[in-house]
Amino acid sequence: MILLANSEAYPGIEASARRLQAGEEGLRALVEGIKLVELDPRVRTVGYGGWPNVLGEMELDASVMDGDSLRTGAVGALKGYIHPIEVAYKVMTDLNHEILVGEGAAIFANEVNAVAGNNLIEDSKQVWWEKLEQAMTPEQQAAFPNVPLAPLSNNATDPERVRDTTVFLSSDINRKITAATSTSGWAWKYPGRLGDSPIIGAGSYADSRYGACACTHTGEMSIRCSTAHAVVLYMKMGMTLDEAVYEAIRDLDYLKDGYTEGVTIHAIDCHGNHKVVSLNCPGNITYWLWQTGMDKPEERQAEVIMTK
Ligand code: ASP
Repeated sequence: MILLANSEAYPGIEASARRLQAGEEGLRALVEGIKLVELDPRVRTVGYGGWPNVLGEMELDASVMDGDSLRTGAVGALKGYIHPIEVAYKVMTDLNHEILVGEGAAIFANEVNAVAGNNLIEDSKQVWWEKLEQAMTPEQQAAFPNVPLAPLSNNATDPERVRDTTVFLSSDINRKITAATSTSGWAWKYPGRLGDSPIIGAGSYADSRYGACACTHTGEMSIRCSTAHAVVLYMKMGMTLDEAVYEAIRDLDYLKDGYTEGVTIHAIDCHGNHKVVSLNCPGNITYWLWQTGMDKPEERQAEVIMTK
């Protein structure tokens, strides 16, 4: 068994590891760990305590994928619910669809009795307004939100910093490989923006025959390269896990614009190997790993590839 998650997973990684160790089905083990991350306001990029969109509203994205059935469930731009990951799971189990967004996702969340609540904490609200104030003239401040939002969304943030996600991948006791993600996305994003986290194939993918992959940082980049599916496909076509991840890094590095700096690929294969590689990120990127035989998850350093 193996459990791989990104650095933001710390509130939930041990719970997921314990559940896997106890023989629980992999995707439920991931969902229960991610729910703890979503609830923890120290994690500023996921669930309660995350960053709002440019209007100051919390819009959350999440996804799950079962690598045996290749069934998926995802929600995008979900407002007013505490556990988008649980709603994504229910999309998979209770609907014939794979993804719901916005109002429809909220109607469904209510229908499945998801926990309702306000995810915007006072500090996020203050930081959001400070950033916006700096980017607006006094006239625009008075007229807000009836002002052009695109320049505000584009200019009010440093896209290299105010974002992250939590991603969890596992192979369970039955060698079923699963993936799950949850995020508040890019701070001050344009309303309705979906990142890669709810886009299966971009932010995550799992296939028990080969492995799984999930990405963090600017989702626009992994959407453009279908990064998560590419890694799994490269393994299907015969590459090793390391070769597949390096090839996907080359795909990202080919992009000539946008923010590839810091995009991080987390991947496992069906033989129990793992690989975490970050592109052009000078900072210290870590991840969490638990494998059969370990007492508890360990925090490790990601490999960094600098091409710029
Ligand atoms: N990938 C997420 C998104 O684009 C954010 C992140 O992981 O930094 O919404």
